[in-house]
Amino acid sequence: MKRRPLGGTGLEVSELGFGASPLGRLPRGGERRGIEAVHTALELGITFFDVSPYYGETVAETVLGKALRGVDRSAYVLATKVGRYSDTEFDFSAERVTRSVRESLDRLGTDHLDLVQCHDVEFGDLDQVVRETIPALRALQEDGVIGAVGVTGYPLPALAYVVERAPVDTIISYCHYTLQNRRLAAWRDRFARRGTAVINASPLAMGALTNRGAPSWHPAPAEILKCCAEAGALCGARGEELARVALQFAVSTGDFPTTLVGAADPEEVRRNVRWLSEPRDEELLREVEACLEPVRDVSWPNGRPEN
Ligand code: NAD
Repeated sequence: MKRRPLGGTGLEVSELGFGASPLGRLPRGGERRGIEAVHTALELGITFFDVSPYYGETVAETVLGKALRGVDRSAYVLATKVGRYSDTEFDFSAERVTRSVRESLDRLGTDHLDLVQCHDVEFGDLDQVVRETIPALRALQEDGVIGAVGVTGYPLPALAYVVERAPVDTIISYCHYTLQNRRLAAWRDRFARRGTAVINASPLAMGALTNRGAPSWHPAPAEILKCCAEAGALCGARGEELARVALQFAVSTGDFPTTLVGAADPEEVRRNVRWLSEPRDEELLREVEACLEPVRDVSWPNGRPEN
């Protein structure tokens, strides 16, 4: 597994990162498999783990913390988030995010976090994020509790608004560099000029770009999901997996320091790592792209309308 510097943070991350949001949605009795997925990732060279108190309303952090207990702390880079706690609960105040970091440290069983990110800033007041949240995180950085500070979200203008007003080490952009939507490519330089490293998340469009198809909670409009389902059916009919085409595309063409893919199943982790070293099927890629052409670069609204 290749490793790359995460911008100017001084951190080094594996080109494939472990997205822990599925650890917050484990089926009953699924915790052991979730923990096994984390251990499989570590064995295969994945060193970057991203989580949030929002995922499963603290469940993902708790499970990830259990999985990482006893693992050499210098063997992995740990990122979590602040500000979002449920589908409706957001609090970007300095007091809450400072307390949130302490709570995450407890659940994750560590005394420092390599990266802490303001989670889904489009649901908050962006000026509060600039004036209050990021400075609160910088204070924790000065205390040595945090290594780097980031922001995450879906609408690219909201991320740019923050990055252009407060120095931010990283952003997570999701579902914006995939087979369906590549809008992030046009924004990358804007972030780079500010010295902000871009982490690409959700290369499988949160499950929509898999043969199994999108989960019921997926926020994309029906037209996007219909085209993704057609691409999945095409791959299935060929004995291929759409997730493979999607992951290979994002990692090999994206040129991001790391790509975060979500998995809570050891077999999915193994397949994802294996696919990175296998050649792309260019003909299948072209056919899948044709299925997705009607919805190419279509985004959906997310967060406060003013953001
Ligand atoms: P994803 O595009 O990585 O897709 C994950 C889904 O694909 C899961 O349902 C998983 O079971 C399935 N999958 C994974 N490997 C597979 C395989 N080999 N075959 C078939 N299916 C497979 O979406 P994601 O999990 O939402 O995003 C990845 C990570 O990025 C998240 O876990 C999170 O850490 C981060 N993220 C952050 C934000 C944010 O900060 N706002 C938003 C989205 C994602």
